[in-house]
Amino acid sequence: MERAKRLDKIPPYLFGEIARLKAKAIADGVDLINLSIGDPDQPTPQPIIDKLCEAANDSETHRYDESEAGWPVYLETVARWYKSRFGVDIDPSTEAMLLLGSKDGLSHICWAMIDPGDVSLVPDPGYTVYGVNTLMAGGDVVTMPLLESNGFLPDLAAIPTDAAKAAKLMFLNYPNNPTGAVASMDFFSDAVRFAREYDIAVVSDVAYSEVTYDGYVAPSMLQAEGAKDVVIEMHSLSKSFNMTGWRIGFAVGNKDLVAALNKLKSNLDSRQFPAIDLAAAYALANVTNDKTLALYKKRRDILVDGLNNLGWNVKKPKATLYVWAPVPGGYTSTDFAKMLLQEAGVLVIPGRGYGEHGDGYVRMSLTVLGDTDGERVAEAVKRIGDKFSGLWK
Ligand code: PMP
Repeated sequence: MERAKRLDKIPPYLFGEIARLKAKAIADGVDLINLSIGDPDQPTPQPIIDKLCEAANDSETHRYDESEAGWPVYLETVARWYKSRFGVDIDPSTEAMLLLGSKDGLSHICWAMIDPGDVSLVPDPGYTVYGVNTLMAGGDVVTMPLLESNGFLPDLAAIPTDAAKAAKLMFLNYPNNPTGAVASMDFFSDAVRFAREYDIAVVSDVAYSEVTYDGYVAPSMLQAEGAKDVVIEMHSLSKSFNMTGWRIGFAVGNKDLVAALNKLKSNLDSRQFPAIDLAAAYALANVTNDKTLALYKKRRDILVDGLNNLGWNVKKPKATLYVWAPVPGGYTSTDFAKMLLQEAGVLVIPGRGYGEHGDGYVRMSLTVLGDTDGERVAEAVKRIGDKFSGLWK
């Protein structure tokens, strides 16, 4: 039996060795502090769970969702949320659709838009889903380096004209995984102008738009003038409301892009359990996740201040779940992550896993299972200090 050749286009898994060392550490009984995965450790807020139970008791939610693009109450709530949160008008009947989490939209937009030979502009470092699905759909990836010297924003002027002309999709993700960087409205406006000039569809991944600190409020790219000509924005309730397991999100923006994605997906899945849609609508309309955000902020401050006290030079992110920390000279990100794991029992992700330009960094997540008030993060800093003091001096 031979599987489809497209599966051979998936790049090799870069965390193999780290995964093996992690399994070994756990088998050896090491008290591992896991700063690797970005998956909210706090439970979904109780009122959302209560709403799910109530909705699940209504037999109206037990059958297929046969609506055009998602349970109407959910999409209407999404449109109202967009207006109140970003001041952007969304027509719920043509400019919004339900997603089974934003990964669903980010992957399948490639299958809806990319033919063999088409190009996607993809950030490096970046969430791997954009590039992998472009390649599987037969397209080519042109990377946009995200460099610290440019605030981890792509330099639009540095994109080769040939690549810009060939590009059908451009992926942008702010607040950004893995760098924690944020983008200004000026940058979004420049990106919209660029995309309109070259007739490129922009996929704006805002999975972290509600995970922000210190009063920072993340904008939507749809606030930029002319954005609806070229932008589809992918949202998720995963990180906003500690709902990663629920698989619920939405896409909004350019109606042709929404229609293309919806046409594809209507032939792939049968939408979500409507009780989840109703609980998600309730969350958007009524719930804030302040307690969880306060805990992330506390962890962020303990981690970044602690590492900087050791002589490390780590920036405090204004948003996302991630601290993007430069590795000391002489180490690759993989070597450094291996050393932290083996000698300090602290698990981080080597930046190389997010692309070539990630190699000078490791990603540390603020979602730490088993940490109730920053104590595990403080322990991670202590262990790093005990084992590696002097490395950054
Ligand atoms: N975008 C980014 C940048 C992510 O990091 C993730 C998940 N970690 C997603 C999208 C997908 O999240 P979900 O499918 O749960 O919405």
